[in-house]
Amino acid sequence: MQFSEIVGQQEVKAHLLQTVKSGRISHAQLFLGPEGCGSLPLAMAYAQYIACENRLEADSCGECASCRKYAKLIHPDLHFSYPFFAKHKDDTAVTFIEEWREAFLVNPYLNLDEWREHLDSDNKQANINIAECHQIIKKLSLKSFEGEYKVLIMWLPEYLDKEGNTLLKIIEEPPQKTLFLLVAQNQDQILNTILSRTQLVKINRLSNEDIKRYLIEKYLAEPEKAAQIAYLSEGNIQTALTMFNGEINNNFGLFSDWLRMCFANKGTQIADFVETASKLGRENQKDFIRYGMNIIRECLIVLSGASDLVHLPRAENDFVINFSKIIDLAKTEAMYNELEKAHYHIERNANPKILFLDVSLQIVKILKFNTLPQGTQHIVN
Ligand SMILES: [Zn+2]
Repeated sequence: MQFSEIVGQQEVKAHLLQTVKSGRISHAQLFLGPEGCGSLPLAMAYAQYIACENRLEADSCGECASCRKYAKLIHPDLHFSYPFFAKHKDDTAVTFIEEWREAFLVNPYLNLDEWREHLDSDNKQANINIAECHQIIKKLSLKSFEGEYKVLIMWLPEYLDKEGNTLLKIIEEPPQKTLFLLVAQNQDQILNTILSRTQLVKINRLSNEDIKRYLIEKYLAEPEKAAQIAYLSEGNIQTALTMFNGEINNNFGLFSDWLRMCFANKGTQIADFVETASKLGRENQKDFIRYGMNIIRECLIVLSGASDLVHLPRAENDFVINFSKIIDLAKTEAMYNELEKAHYHIERNANPKILFLDVSLQIVKILKFNTLPQGTQHIVN
């Protein structure tokens, strides 16, 4: 992974380059940023830059023996740790290294759900177990094979068990030329003892402009469409790509139909919807709900009298404007909360049929207690 392959994040890149040029590479660093901002690819590009035999001004060369091994994640001094589902108590991250390489090489911006799909998870809780902590200590106590540095990239240290404290000593007093790069999303879920021993590299969500430019340059998106997707993706490149790949249209059809049938309280249609939605797969269900939350948020903007701020494609824009005529702020907020709850439960493996039925009924209830004058219902069509 080279810096040039990573979307935006110019400031972070400049900072990382500077640490190498000035010879001030802190041996334990925490790359902290929200999902889809590129923390993991940044850590990878940083490690590759440090190991590169022929560094350029602003990037690794991409051609030397070290870079070639880095590109395939097979450099012997590059180690990984990540949450996994142990089938045997002595399973460690290495047990799943093939799956890891494949997952990262296919999508360096992967999230935990996507990673889970590469593993045979059986809905178990992913974690970084004690066997893995011992393995890390063992690996890092060996001499480096080729490069100057041994690097351990730990993705999502939030999933370290309490036993993670086993690592404190090696993080605090690491063997010579050892580099710990922790890549996390939620600071408050990391063991404090580990947090206090790392130097923070804060990574912000991507700007709309960065995402827009990326979609235009890399995927030849129409500027107008790229701008709309960038706006809806909230700085998450993964969400942006899912939307770009056509999901946005399917979601719009499904979501607007769903609200219409809830509004009209059409039981049979709702049952069909529940059936369809429960078969989408968890990632798509989350996208669908997030998409719905965005649409409802746009309704909120319209209801607050700021229609000018809504930037949606034509059909969605019309829907939002019309739908806003039959709801009020309280209902909009209540619906947003229901969707947010649903998203939370999907993430935690709720039964999708029960979940979509329940949220449908809640939305029917919210929409039913209608204080609007009769005759306005036809507006939603
Ligand atoms: Zn190189």
